[in-house]
Amino acid sequence: MICTKCHERAIISQRYSGQHLCQDHFIQDFERRVAETVQRNEMVKEGERIAVAVSGGKDSTALLFCLCRILAKRDVELVAVTVDEGIAGYRDDTIKAAKAIAERLGVELHIVSFREEYGYDLDEMVPGKKVAPCTYCGVFRKNALNRAAKRLEADKVATGHNQDDEAQTIMMNYLKGDFERLMRFRPWRAQRGLVPRIKPLREMPEKEIALYCMVNEVFTESRECPYANLSLRADVRDMLNDLESQFPGTKQSTVRGFEKIVAKAQGSYAQMDLAACKECGEPCVKELCKACELLGALKIRIKLSK
Ligand code: SF4
Ligand SMILES: [Zn+2]
Ligand SMILES: [Zn+2]
Repeated sequence: MICTKCHERAIISQRYSGQHLCQDHFIQDFERRVAETVQRNEMVKEGERIAVAVSGGKDSTALLFCLCRILAKRDVELVAVTVDEGIAGYRDDTIKAAKAIAERLGVELHIVSFREEYGYDLDEMVPGKKVAPCTYCGVFRKNALNRAAKRLEADKVATGHNQDDEAQTIMMNYLKGDFERLMRFRPWRAQRGLVPRIKPLREMPEKEIALYCMVNEVFTESRECPYANLSLRADVRDMLNDLESQFPGTKQSTVRGFEKIVAKAQGSYAQMDLAACKECGEPCVKELCKACELLGALKIRIKLSK
């Protein structure tokens, strides 16, 4: 297979675009598309400090590497933040990988842990996996990232969510019939206390992100989180992968279709004003933020089990 743009051997065939690309043209195409997403959505402004969430997995590694390249000539400062959830036999390796990529790129790295922020590792929060680990992990990770970004005086938080993640989240909310939540997924104005989040890789397929890491020699495959298969997301992921292989472009159209719905619905779904949590001061819709709510229930559960 020959590259559509030159006479080199192609390393990827993009079924959704009909292009075959060699290594150089794939890297160019990848970085151009990420730069376009950043520009079209006005994700980054001159003079800003961006906290990049780097878990050490392939998505966040590609994110940091790609942002360093596409923003190299702009007046934008990148700082990396790694959240250590406390997942034995998994997180230690990815933290090492996060340190290595940050060091290689000369980006300052800050590590925040669930244990330091909330008093428990994720493994202690979900003994015997009786409660949904990903629910706890997602809520506390968001909260920890927001707190860290504020401490670091960052203007934005960049996360490595890719097109697959976006399509999964949209589909999960469709399946749950949770339209309110779906609309909150794409906020259209800044909210008090919440450092704005950007997702520069949101239009990039997971497979291309893995390839981008491989050709740039920035990532070696690590094991999957031991909790990953316990969530609805895992089933939705498998379902979308099946559909994508039968009908190329399914994930892209899921995300693009959702963008059209958001554009039409803007204004019809008022975005809630956030208050400050009475326990920790983080933004929330009720009296307590979700993290303090879960933490309260967790403390009762631990007390009862003694
Ligand atoms: S799979 Fe679930 S528990 Fe594991 S890191 Fe992801 S959200 Fe956290
Ligand atoms: Zn080429
Ligand atoms: Zn709180």
